[in-house]
Amino acid sequence: MRVLVINCGSSSVKISVYDQSLQKHIFSYKAERLGTTEACVIIGDRKIEIPNGNHKLALEKIVQSCSEEFDAIVHRVVHGGSHFSQPVRITSDVISQIEKIIPLAPLHNPANIAGIHASIAIFPELPHVAIFDTAFHGTLPRRAYSYAIPRSLAKKHNVRRFGFHGPSHEWVANRASSYLEQNVEDLRIITCHLGNGASCCAVEYGRSIETSMGMTPLEGLVMGTRSGDIDPGAVFSLMRAEDLSPEEMEEFLNRSSGLHGLSGVGNDMRDIAQAAEDGNDQARLSIHVYAHRIRKYIGAYSAIMGGVDAIVFTAGVGENSARIRQQVAQRLDFLGARLDLEKNREARVSKENDVADISEIRSRVSILVVATDEERAMAEKAIEFLEQENPNQDLQIPIAISARHLHVTQAAVDSLFGKGHTLREYKPISQPGQFACVEKVDIIGPRRTIQGVRIIGPLRPKVQVEISRTDEFSLGIDAPVRNSGDVANSPGVILRGPNGDYTISEGVICARRHIHMHPNDAKRFHVSDRDVVEVSINSDGRDLTFGDVLVRVSPKYVLEMHIDTDEANAAQISRGFSGILAGVSNKAHLCKKRV
Ligand code: ADP
Repeated sequence: MRVLVINCGSSSVKISVYDQSLQKHIFSYKAERLGTTEACVIIGDRKIEIPNGNHKLALEKIVQSCSEEFDAIVHRVVHGGSHFSQPVRITSDVISQIEKIIPLAPLHNPANIAGIHASIAIFPELPHVAIFDTAFHGTLPRRAYSYAIPRSLAKKHNVRRFGFHGPSHEWVANRASSYLEQNVEDLRIITCHLGNGASCCAVEYGRSIETSMGMTPLEGLVMGTRSGDIDPGAVFSLMRAEDLSPEEMEEFLNRSSGLHGLSGVGNDMRDIAQAAEDGNDQARLSIHVYAHRIRKYIGAYSAIMGGVDAIVFTAGVGENSARIRQQVAQRLDFLGARLDLEKNREARVSKENDVADISEIRSRVSILVVATDEERAMAEKAIEFLEQENPNQDLQIPIAISARHLHVTQAAVDSLFGKGHTLREYKPISQPGQFACVEKVDIIGPRRTIQGVRIIGPLRPKVQVEISRTDEFSLGIDAPVRNSGDVANSPGVILRGPNGDYTISEGVICARRHIHMHPNDAKRFHVSDRDVVEVSINSDGRDLTFGDVLVRVSPKYVLEMHIDTDEANAAQISRGFSGILAGVSNKAHLCKKRV
């Protein structure tokens, strides 16, 4: 499959053609200064003037000059709001949804929509797919995406954190894990995308759980022309003092601030670094503020994930500026992250040679420079989406509601029920070999105790307590959403049995939604172990879709999706419901393929 990837900015278009079988771009062209007298299209070393040309004219010029055939068109859409957390085929309904999101991204979505209209006019017969910058952050937990403002207002106006640069963060996190020869699901990675726009992301075991941009791409790091974090009080004070309207203030924070405003020598880090070397104090200060902010986020994200395994620098500044990387990485020794100054100075990355390790040999944390490739990331996502658009719709997946339960070790059984005690089977449960036990324990959290929680046998090598969101609140702990078995850095609790207490220092999780399936089912659904899928359920005539459902394949499993009691209650699902596979959002094998 060959796809044309279109990335429209307000006055620019970047275009590339990606070939699936060659796994590379065939060409990349761009147009600049659209809507002005200097509008032009740049094709290789040729520059074609198109005075006052718009997105449509630029696209037409580019398409005329290439002889390629495409199977689909892929569009970058910056803001997907709460509506889009997956790639989507563009229809008139989808366009009007994206239009509705314009108030959340007034500087970005209109350009994306212009590109969509222009390319549909040129290629009406081809499928058009939208890939959203916000989609990768659809896994942010509520505590990360909520602003502390009245809930009713936040809901009414969709005021929450969304995050951006998703394709880049996801791509470089996957590339980093392939380079380290580990599964992304076993790593805690902090990705720093430092381009004109800049953001950090905490990628915990493959999922975005925090990111520095918020409701709009204005929050967070210092950027080329955007301020990043600033006290809202300072914004009001400036508006009053300078008599600025909201639009003027928005423009000011987006286009005249950041490195540009602080340094006074423009937004290009190369010019600022040169001015700093030449003794310009403002330029020096802006570099310090820029690096300090990134280091602050790295510290914060390490705390949130309970540690970090890899720090990744990417995009224009991250890939090219050894100086910024060094300033950011200094004093991170306390995390076990030690930069090798020589390797850092010599690191060069390109599309062909896209990872450089710049950590000291004895650094526990890998510090990497990874070349991002947002267009390729979008192309692969779109191809994956088109290939999976029509999964087997007929197969019903039974849904089981998991009550809170725990898995235990013999050491825990000894303490809770007496030395040498053997767990007694109460009744078998649906997954072969597993059984509910007669034994129950109390779970004691800092806030409350939950009594009579059933143990599920057989014994396991680690204690794991699986609770719901309501339980976590009631116990008074923050339990992360995890795959079964991933308990590292999760909170601990006290377990109380008839014979005594057993304290665990970690092991309490909210189990991630998952489907158990036999390899034969996986074949019928065209999915494999660790793919992430969507499941649609028809509940009382309402169509509900559960996203972010992990597929677990084993010859020991029978087909069944597990959700927790909270989710079942919220969706009014009881015993006997079933769902169908509505789409595949993440193919596990793609992470491995990118070696
Ligand atoms: P975007 O895609 O967001 O427009 P890029 O990822 O291309 O941005 O990054 C652009 C920025 O990268 C430039 O503004 C420039 O500041 C910075 N940059 C590029 N090369 C270097 C370099 N060698 N040293 C420092 N900064 C650089």
